[in-house]
Amino acid sequence: MAASMPGVIALFDVDGTLTAPRKEATTKMLEFMQELRKVVKVGIVGGSDLVKIAEQLGRTVINNYDYVFAENGLVAYKDGNLIGTQSLKTHLGEEKLKEFINFTLHYIADLDIPIKRGTFIEFRNGMINVSPIGRNCSQEERDEFEKYDKIHNIRPTMVSILREKFAHLNLTFSIGGQISFDAFPEGWDKTFCLKYLDEFQEIHFFGDKTYKGGNDHEIYESERTVGHTVTSPEDTATQCTSLFLSKQG
Ligand SMILES: [Mg+2]
Repeated sequence: MAASMPGVIALFDVDGTLTAPRKEATTKMLEFMQELRKVVKVGIVGGSDLVKIAEQLGRTVINNYDYVFAENGLVAYKDGNLIGTQSLKTHLGEEKLKEFINFTLHYIADLDIPIKRGTFIEFRNGMINVSPIGRNCSQEERDEFEKYDKIHNIRPTMVSILREKFAHLNLTFSIGGQISFDAFPEGWDKTFCLKYLDEFQEIHFFGDKTYKGGNDHEIYESERTVGHTVTSPEDTATQCTSLFLSKQG
């Protein structure tokens, strides 16, 4: 589709920006996005995988936008075609991964906390998720761990030790949710997708978690983007209308 503002792309977070949290996008919002494409190129950048993004934005999502970046751009599509992939396995290699996983499992084995369950490490395409209690605990056990962690700093302590021990791997650690933290290579946040957008002079990014520690923060702050904080899909549409559509005839 030919956009009437060349060199400009509008890039959108998915959850909380184009959809209500963990919900599907409304038909109205999806139609609005197609209207927007008549004026600017439109890209999608979500932290989750393509399956999850397709659940929220529709089965044909990769064909409906100029760019779709799943897993922050580790899996990248342009005009419906796959243009790039990256993974922890490729990036770090099996030896370094094993070193990290072995150390982490030993650390957890020696950790004296009230209860432990199963799935202490979850290996994902672009990150390793570590849970001292184990991911398959019950909701009640989660709540208890969260309280315990607030007092005893189990996660922050573990992160500071891993950060020091594996400084050579250049990992970023992010404590989120109740029971775990993520480890991933530096720069594998949403800014990762910007490497595919060199041709654009103006990149507008819209996201709901642009505050420090939020998953839109780095790309929002990036010198390559003009950042916009939104509070809901409706707010996204309102801001885009005044930025891109109100100038049109
Ligand atoms: Mg979001």
